[in-house]
Amino acid sequence: MSENKSRYIDVVLNVPLNQAFTYREPLDDGKKELPKDPFGYRVEVKFGNRKTTGFVTAVYDSIPKSCSVGDDKIRNAVKYVDSEPLLTRELLSIASFMSSYYIAPIGECVFAMIPSGKRETEIPGFSFFQDEKGFEKKELSDEQKNAVQGILSSGAPSKFHYLYGTTGSGKTEVFLTCADSVMQQGKGVIYLVPEIGLTPQVVEAVRARFGNTAAVLHSELTPSQRLGEWKRILHKEARVVIGARSAIFAPVPDLGLVIIDEEHDSSYKSGSSPRYHARQIGMLRCSHENIPLLMGSATPSMEAWHSMAEGKLIKHVLTRRLAGGAVPKIECINLSSEANGENCISRKLNSEIESTIKENKQTILFLNRRGFTHFFRCSSCGFELKCRNCSVALTYHKSENRLRCHYCGYSTTPPQQCPECGSLDIGYSGFGTEYIESEVKSKFPNARVLRADTDSLHHKGELQERFDAFKKGEADILLGTQMVAKGLNFPKLKLVGVVLADSSLHLPDFRASEKTFALITQVAGRAGRFFPDGKVVVQSYNPERDAISFAVRNDTEGFYKKEIEMRKILGFPPFTRLLRLVFRSAVPNSAQAAAEAASRILEKKAPPEVEILGPAECPLNMVAGNYRWQVLLRGKNIKPLQEAAKALVWGYKPLKDVYIEVDVDPLNLM
Ligand code: ADP
Ligand code: ZN
Ligand code: ZN
Repeated sequence: MSENKSRYIDVVLNVPLNQAFTYREPLDDGKKELPKDPFGYRVEVKFGNRKTTGFVTAVYDSIPKSCSVGDDKIRNAVKYVDSEPLLTRELLSIASFMSSYYIAPIGECVFAMIPSGKRETEIPGFSFFQDEKGFEKKELSDEQKNAVQGILSSGAPSKFHYLYGTTGSGKTEVFLTCADSVMQQGKGVIYLVPEIGLTPQVVEAVRARFGNTAAVLHSELTPSQRLGEWKRILHKEARVVIGARSAIFAPVPDLGLVIIDEEHDSSYKSGSSPRYHARQIGMLRCSHENIPLLMGSATPSMEAWHSMAEGKLIKHVLTRRLAGGAVPKIECINLSSEANGENCISRKLNSEIESTIKENKQTILFLNRRGFTHFFRCSSCGFELKCRNCSVALTYHKSENRLRCHYCGYSTTPPQQCPECGSLDIGYSGFGTEYIESEVKSKFPNARVLRADTDSLHHKGELQERFDAFKKGEADILLGTQMVAKGLNFPKLKLVGVVLADSSLHLPDFRASEKTFALITQVAGRAGRFFPDGKVVVQSYNPERDAISFAVRNDTEGFYKKEIEMRKILGFPPFTRLLRLVFRSAVPNSAQAAAEAASRILEKKAPPEVEILGPAECPLNMVAGNYRWQVLLRGKNIKPLQEAAKALVWGYKPLKDVYIEVDVDPLNLM
């Protein structure tokens, strides 16, 4: 710079205050030239008396009016961290939207987007490249061709599309073809999948098709590797980005298409602040950029289903399985009438497994993670041992003889007698993966059994190894939780057994039915992809419940129709919007007191269109030593709810020791 007068910069920091902070630009130390336009650069500053890193969001030649302190109080920033900006103007505008929509500090929003690595490192190259491993493109079916055409040439580019196709109907191929075509025009693509470790085959297909122009943002990358990929994207070296939720923020220049696979999946919603939904951000980005958004699933969320019915989403349908398979026959076993002692596997499921093994084909047994706690129970007084920090039952782990909490990790040795009444008549009920594993092994001593659940995985890449082994036919039976429900194609898989379908049905949550239906349909859809006689056996104590009976009849339309009616009657989304406030505190009465005080303020200040439900104890009334209470805001439109919540959380000091979680459009109310 010609003179020594330094500029002023606004810096956004990862602190819970919804503002930027003004600094003087770092001094020119002669070593590195100062950037001409420092917007988006990372910069090291002192905040209070600690060193921290922020992002430059504005530059001024003289002290900005927004600055609340005098010139003499403004500190010098220490130094710029990188030699290029990491935050783009587009991303900053998305962060501002998130801050306002999800009621979260701007710094938290910016930091949720950008990898935190200090220095970038490269990730090792892919082990195979384009056209290797026999991925040549497939000849599209007529249905697939129609969908591609409808999506790519729908007139107005900024439309939202939905590919509704039964499991195994070739949605991936449609996504890839659309991505390919957009890339041919020199534009970039973001391709979201639920959890990257769980959808290895889609990732494989993207890598095989796009080689090194693909960036894969998966959870096993270190922050520095993420930063490396971020820069490859900024430099246009990578043009298609595949990743889980946060890949929606990838800084792709000339973005041409956003794809959201398995749109219904709840992992697209962030569980910590800012509690954003990738679908919402996708919609925002696509309307800003005037480009299409393409979502797809065999089991759309209720919201998406309703929007399709209203014509707000353009619906494209795939009805046929293309790899030689047919939609499998589903049989339901009523466990109440099939008394089978201590066994988890009914006679029918048993004989199906037997004949599948005889045919030299494969079986998946699906256990719903949530319901499969094997927990301590007193037969005399009914006492159940719960975690002392959380309100959930402890799970018994046979191999180590310990009871464990799956929320906070607390563990203890199993008591010899009931801590409540002293009775010695104690035992374990419910059944865990380990329990089923031993039952399967004793019933089929010659079968090769593999497990895929979090408890049995110890090192990176182990899940992938087991899937590969199963795919190669190195096992007869795969036992797994939610992990086996997604995006997998196993050529020799004939039989799917859902060991207990009801377990997620009993959660005190208005989405329990929707989630249960989707889960059964998705797991069932793994069977018979490559031959016409695939088979599914669903075991349940409540076969008459809608979520189960419609799934068993493979009647998706029927289920949605009925569930939508129910939501309408009860006044839940998609007919209303919700905003959830959770008050948590380690001090016993504080959470409740804060929730009560908050709802009194809301009753007084919020406009009449905001309905206030609660305060009430959360179903999970304690997590990791924190007591939890909630207040729900409900209304036709989201804006008044957001305004009311903002006025509360930004206008009032919460009680001491109380933390408020804001969840706009919550996916669960636990
Ligand atoms: P979905 O995502 O809809 O569940 P997939 O995309 O996984 O289904 O496709 C299911 C199977 O069908 C895969 O094995 C895929 O290779 C195959 N497939 C897809 N499109 C075609 C096609 N046009 N011709 C032949 N096989 C296809
Ligand atoms: Zn007891
Ligand atoms: Zn716990």
